[in-house]
Amino acid sequence: MESLKDFLYTMNSCNQCGQCKWVLGPKMRGWKYAEVCPIHLRYGFDAYSGQGLINIAQEILEGRLRYEDGLIQLIYTCLTCGACDVNCKSIRDMEVLDTILALRAKCVEDGQGLTEHMQIARKIEKTHNIYGNPHDKRFNWLPEGKKLSDTSSVAYFAGCAAAYTHPEIAVNTLKILDAAGITYKVLGAEEYCCGAMLWRTGQTEAFKKAAEQNLAVLKKQGIKTLITSCAECYGTFRGGYPRFVDMDVEVLYISEVVTDAIKTGKIKFKKKQNLKVTYHDPCMLGRLSEKYVPWNGKIEAYGVHVPPKPWRRGTNGVYEAPREIIKAIPGVTLVEMVRNAENSFCCGAGGGVPAVLPEFAQWVAAERLDEAGSTGAAALVSACPFCQDSFTNALAANRNKMRYYDLTELVVKAL
Ligand code: SF4
Ligand code: SF4
Repeated sequence: MESLKDFLYTMNSCNQCGQCKWVLGPKMRGWKYAEVCPIHLRYGFDAYSGQGLINIAQEILEGRLRYEDGLIQLIYTCLTCGACDVNCKSIRDMEVLDTILALRAKCVEDGQGLTEHMQIARKIEKTHNIYGNPHDKRFNWLPEGKKLSDTSSVAYFAGCAAAYTHPEIAVNTLKILDAAGITYKVLGAEEYCCGAMLWRTGQTEAFKKAAEQNLAVLKKQGIKTLITSCAECYGTFRGGYPRFVDMDVEVLYISEVVTDAIKTGKIKFKKKQNLKVTYHDPCMLGRLSEKYVPWNGKIEAYGVHVPPKPWRRGTNGVYEAPREIIKAIPGVTLVEMVRNAENSFCCGAGGGVPAVLPEFAQWVAAERLDEAGSTGAAALVSACPFCQDSFTNALAANRNKMRYYDLTELVVKAL
């Protein structure tokens, strides 16, 4: 995995243009909802943005800035949502988000990681989940008597959130897989946390361990296709694991499975819903879900990367599948928010932020809900248990009457 010094080119290339804070001009629909960086929108200073964080990274790397409590707090206010990264890449070839992640890894390396994040890491180490719940309860959500394949090369990876706090997502996912006629297994006692939180908070060694552990299990169990219903798991398998290990397993999101099943006629929606909805693109399912391809070339004059670098620009995330599904459900109308697809605005759950700044996380969710409400939709649909927590907390705190659906719930209701 690259370290902070590997991003000197990015640090030196920033021309302070500020595009990392904004939706690209042609996609703006007005002043409102024009900003994409939640920390800049909330705190206003340049230090709170992709631009500011890569400047801070350079000052730390080159020894001109010392760690202080306020600085560490600032670094860990970032949601690692990647909106800065894709917007910067729309004008320049740089790695803004990877620089921020490398900065966090350096903080941890220098003994400056946050206690709250290290506590979560200890829970993962001991119990293999982010909550510290008993490992032997991880599959309590599995319906009694549910028949699974022992030999299938397809597995459903529930992830910590669906396993412990949103069992309905896991149960609905199995119903969908059954409706689609897919034969699958689950990993059972060998399913451990994917390590997303470790990666996003800079705990590189622990993350590497999680990646190696999970990949060894997939290999041992002969898994060729892994299906997830958690955006954090999906983005981590595709964008995180290949930084350490050869990931020769196909990773599919449940929405991709559903769109295939609609096309082949295996899934047909029979129940009308009469609902106007808007869809929130989770960062790790959208702009951060593109597969990471290692690159070990040279950067020559004028920033020419030799051989050409496969940039992750966020434009190939899972954007169409959830929308196709929503539009295929009879009676459901989809209306779009201004900030959508690669310009989606984070839900507030990213980067380990809720563990340290819960009020700020809820403020971000409320800002997104305001945008969702501006569409006239009665319900917000998304596809990630962490987004669900963020939005449902903010809905309750603000007595907002908008409903929230995980995509799997909407699909099962319409079957
Ligand atoms: S990070 Fe990119 S978009 Fe942001 S100020 Fe620097 S060059 Fe501009
Ligand atoms: S990752 Fe998100 S929160 Fe962090 S600086 Fe970039 S846009 Fe802002």
